[in-house]
Amino acid sequence: MRAKAPSPDYGTVATHHQGQPSDGMHAPITRFAPSPTGLLHLGHAHSALFARRAAGDGTFLLRLEDIDAGRCRPDFAASIEEDLAWLGLDWPRPVRRQSAHFADYRAALARLEAMDLLYPCFCTRRDIAEEIARAGAAPHGPEGTLYPGTCRRLSPAERADRLESGAPYALRLAVDDAACRTGPLAWHDLAYGPMAAEPATFGDVVLARKDVPASYHLAVTVDDALQGVTLVTRGEDLFAATHLHRLLQALLDLPVPSYHHHRLLTDESGRRLAKRDRSLTLRALRQAGHSPEAVRNMAGFP
Ligand code: GLU
Repeated sequence: MRAKAPSPDYGTVATHHQGQPSDGMHAPITRFAPSPTGLLHLGHAHSALFARRAAGDGTFLLRLEDIDAGRCRPDFAASIEEDLAWLGLDWPRPVRRQSAHFADYRAALARLEAMDLLYPCFCTRRDIAEEIARAGAAPHGPEGTLYPGTCRRLSPAERADRLESGAPYALRLAVDDAACRTGPLAWHDLAYGPMAAEPATFGDVVLARKDVPASYHLAVTVDDALQGVTLVTRGEDLFAATHLHRLLQALLDLPVPSYHHHRLLTDESGRRLAKRDRSLTLRALRQAGHSPEAVRNMAGFP
């Protein structure tokens, strides 16, 4: 299978910046933030090279999003660094590993908790499915069916009882209350232009999982701020998430980066590349004798 690069809307960052007032885009700080749950493939190479090019004479950072201990593996983390270096990338600061920074995510949760915007959710997947079936229908959001709000409606006494019983719980954001508190929010995407944030489409998202004291949405937002990222580049599969990240930035008083969501590499039938495409891992391409230059070319960055 050969990978097809999206028609080039990448590599245009410089022209987007020209003549604009200082908005954090001068010498941008960008990052590539893979999860070490498998080997990198050509799609990842595209994303990493996109971020590198977008940094221009600024700074390109690497972050490993490894909060999910059940799915992430140290050998994949090591291979990510090795494959990116082989591809010709380097990063001037130490790699940030999310699993070493739970205290940062806890601090953010404590802040949201103090604002009374979090509630414990004891529901299992099955509880949620049953509640939705009872209701007959449920609105859909970017991540599937919205949480029906069961645990938001618990009385203080019921909540205290459940907590006391030691039942495992996640922490959910009361998204409507949160959005009321911040008022309307906007963000800027270099490919899509000005965007009005619509975080409520996510419903009450989980910000701390039952098994991990954080979630992707929380960790990514906190880390981009702590690492001083001024331009977030990532695949357009994560476009919708930015609506929610913008809300979290406002609640936590974090700086607002610019965004550039890029198109995804696809195979010849138009399907996005995924872990199943073993022949397109950087490892396999390298073992098949391709040079870093040839692989950069395949990834759309000659
Ligand atoms: N860790 C995410 C992934 O591998 C990307 C996070 C981001 O770029 O915001 O899909």
